[in-house]
Amino acid sequence: MKSYQLVETNQPLQLVETDNPDPQGTEVLIKITASGVCHSDLYFWQGGYDGGGGKTISIEERGIKLPLTMGHEPVGEVVALGPDATGVKIGDKRLVFPWIGCGDCPRCDEGNDNNCISMRTLGVLAPGGYADHVMAAHSKYLLDISGIPEHYACTLACAGITSYSALTKVHPLYDDDKVVIIGAGGVGLTGIGIARAYLPDHELIVVDIDGEKLAAARQAGADHTINSSDEDALERLKELTNTGPGAIVDFVGSSETSKLGYDAVRKGGKYICVGLYGGEITIPTLTLPVRNMTVQGSYVGNLEEMNELLDLVRGGEVTPIPVEKRSLSRVTETLQDLDKGRILGRVVLVP
Ligand SMILES: [Zn+2]
Ligand SMILES: [Zn+2]
Repeated sequence: MKSYQLVETNQPLQLVETDNPDPQGTEVLIKITASGVCHSDLYFWQGGYDGGGGKTISIEERGIKLPLTMGHEPVGEVVALGPDATGVKIGDKRLVFPWIGCGDCPRCDEGNDNNCISMRTLGVLAPGGYADHVMAAHSKYLLDISGIPEHYACTLACAGITSYSALTKVHPLYDDDKVVIIGAGGVGLTGIGIARAYLPDHELIVVDIDGEKLAAARQAGADHTINSSDEDALERLKELTNTGPGAIVDFVGSSETSKLGYDAVRKGGKYICVGLYGGEITIPTLTLPVRNMTVQGSYVGNLEEMNELLDLVRGGEVTPIPVEKRSLSRVTETLQDLDKGRILGRVVLVP
């Protein structure tokens, strides 16, 4: 098999050719046909995250070992099954759910793999999708995508589930509440399309610093857009909502966006942080009770939510994000383009 591996941070990924691995136990080998490129891979490529207060959290501190085959949005075809694998057959087209836990703790038993403290996430802690094959640990992590074009379906494995799971946390909302999405990159834009179907009765306000991304946001169903590079976003949010939005989902997560989200949300509302940009905010503790508000994080999602999202997409009301297909060999160039903010929607690699 061919894989493009992160061998040294900030350097081009290296093409490595090996024999196809043999599936053991319940494992299932997938031949990849579409593989989305997520902005979060930039943090691995660049060697770490902004931990706030001038600190960097290195990938080693997150338990990531190089060389690593990144990529956590693979779709493909079943080509080999381990001796104990059931539930799929050769030739089945499946989305590979990447957010898998240890398989042996109470959280994993309940199906809450994303709250397992020993995750085995594909493309992060196990070989992922920047390859022509990927191994799934169990057929339960292989989801039927019939009715959904595969080059869009793959983006649901991260951009889709991450935004859907965050959007499920906006409740309870009042009838007159507006919902805000900060950031219209790949995950945010996916979230706008999903919010249009999932929260049809609430007006959607999108904040970004890029006019082109805001135009795409309006196309995906945003009722109002705010360009925070040339408008006072906090003022505009107050104008549009009177007392503040009922919920704000932040797909950036920088010091600036989290301060905006925290300041803008209405009394009794929620600020939900999803993006991994990094930074910090100082919160006057008195405002938490006085404003009766919730500050919450959201990390990817679980299998049940993945299935709910696939059903929602099949319902036909979700606006898909723009997808550009590129050959797998252009993976490094794609990461560079993402870093420069040059990609609208998602690039999907085709081996
Ligand atoms: Zn991702
Ligand atoms: Zn576990």
